[in-house]
Amino acid sequence: MIARLTDWITGGFRHGVHPPDHKAATAASPIRRMPFPDEVVLPLRQHAGAPARVLVKAGQRVERGDKVGAAQGYVSVPIHASASGTVTDVDWWPHPDGSLAEAVRIAVDPHSAQIPRPRLVPRWDDLDADGVRAAVQDAGVVGLGGAAFPTHVKLNPPEGRAVETLIVNGAECEPYLTSDHRVMVEHPERVHFGIRVMMQCLETSRAVIGVERNKPDAVERLRETVPDDLDIEIIALRVKYPQGAEKMLIKAVTGREVPSGKLPIHVGTVVQNVGSIAAIAEVFETGVPLIERIVTVSGPGVARPSNLVVPVGTKLRDVLDFCGGLTTDAREVLVGGPMMGAPQSDLDAPVLKGTSGIVVLTAAEAKPARVYACIGCGHCLDACPVFLNPSLLGKEAQAGRYTEMVEDHLMDCMVCGSCSYVCPSNIPLSQMFALAKGAVRREEQREREAAAAAGGGKAA
Ligand code: SF4
Ligand code: SF4
Repeated sequence: MIARLTDWITGGFRHGVHPPDHKAATAASPIRRMPFPDEVVLPLRQHAGAPARVLVKAGQRVERGDKVGAAQGYVSVPIHASASGTVTDVDWWPHPDGSLAEAVRIAVDPHSAQIPRPRLVPRWDDLDADGVRAAVQDAGVVGLGGAAFPTHVKLNPPEGRAVETLIVNGAECEPYLTSDHRVMVEHPERVHFGIRVMMQCLETSRAVIGVERNKPDAVERLRETVPDDLDIEIIALRVKYPQGAEKMLIKAVTGREVPSGKLPIHVGTVVQNVGSIAAIAEVFETGVPLIERIVTVSGPGVARPSNLVVPVGTKLRDVLDFCGGLTTDAREVLVGGPMMGAPQSDLDAPVLKGTSGIVVLTAAEAKPARVYACIGCGHCLDACPVFLNPSLLGKEAQAGRYTEMVEDHLMDCMVCGSCSYVCPSNIPLSQMFALAKGAVRREEQREREAAAAAGGGKAA
C-alpha cells in the first residue's frame, strides 16, 4: 500500500490543561552517550507485572547484555546487565518510586570495552507472531513512556479481537521531556522499522503516528522517511496535556472513546510509545536486549540540560553529575516530568527502563508545600479528561473512604496530574489517587489470594 501523509491538525479530547512545555532547553540537543559509571544497580522490579527472578550471585562475572534476572511468568520480562563487571551484591536498594526493591549491584569493569557478547540477531521476517513476541520478551522490552508495561503482551491481542490501527505515541506531552522527540528526529527509520515489525505481528495494515505540533522537525523527519510500502499516517496534534495518555490519544487520533474499564483493543487499537517501537527495532537490528535508554535531563535546577543515552541502572546522581550537577537553588529532583513524575529523596536510586526523564526544579517551579482546604472552585472538574470529580475523590481519600472512591470511578483515574496542576489550594490530588489505587489493587490481590487459598486454587 502507498504511504499516506496527512497534514490533519487535531487535538480532539475534552478537558485537559495547557502547562508551559519548557522543552526549548533540550528540544534541539542531539542525543549524547554518557560514559559508563563505576557501578550500575538493576532492580528486579522495573516493569509492570511480576518482578524478575534473580539469576546471579555476588562475585559472579557478567558481560554486558547477560541476563541477571529471569521473567517470572507471562506478564514479566528479564533484566540484563547494562555493563560488564562483577556482581557485588543482591540486596534491597532505593527505587525511584520511593520504596526499596531487590536489586543486582554490578561493579563496572573499567578495563572492559563494554561490547556485548556476540549473539544471534533474530530474523523477524522468518518468525511467526509467537516467535516475534518471544524475542521481544527475551530482550526485556517494555513500554518506555513510563508505565513499563511488557511489550510482548501488547503484541498479543485477545483471541477474536482484530487490530484495526496501530497508534504510535509520539505526543510526549509532559513538560521538559524531549527523549521521544529526539528519537523521531534522529532515528525515524528505526521507528518505521519497529512499526513494520509490530504491524506484521499484530496483522494490521494501518499505523498512525500522533505527534504534537510543537515538534515540527519530528513530523518532517518521519514524513521524509516513511517507506513506500507501508500505510503510515502522521498526524500533527494540537498541543494539550495529557495527550500522551492512551485513551486521550485514541480519542484524538480516531475519534473513538475507550469505555470505562476497557482496553484500547476494545476499539480496535493498540498504542505503543515511539521509544518502545525504536527498542523493538533494535532487538531485530542488533540482537542486543534493552540495557540502555534515552533520558532527558532538564529543568532550571540542572547545570547542563541534555538528552543522553544512559545504561539502565545508572544512579540518578551520576547522571546529574555528568550534566554539571545541580544549581545552588535546585529544590526538587523528579523522575519523569512535573505532571506525573515522582519526587526523589535518594539520588542513589537508579535509572530504570521506564525512566524517560530527570527534571530538577527550583523553588520557583516546585509546587508550594502549603496545602489549603478545598474551596469548591470546580477547576479540577474542568481539567479532568476522564470527567471524574477530583474534589469529591480528594475528600474521600483524605477520609480513607476507598470503597466510595471506587464507586466514584477512582480506577478510571490516569493519575495524569491535571487536577493537581489547576488546584489553587495545592491539594496533591493525583498523588492521593495514586496511593488509593495502589491500596485498592493490593486489597483486591489479597482477596484473590484468600479466595484461592480457601478453594485450594491458584491466585492470578
Ligand atoms: S482525577 Fe485522575 S484523571 Fe482526572 S485529572 Fe485528576 S489525576 Fe487526571
Ligand atoms: S481545584 Fe482544588 S480547591 Fe478547586 S474544587 Fe478542586 S480540589 Fe477544590
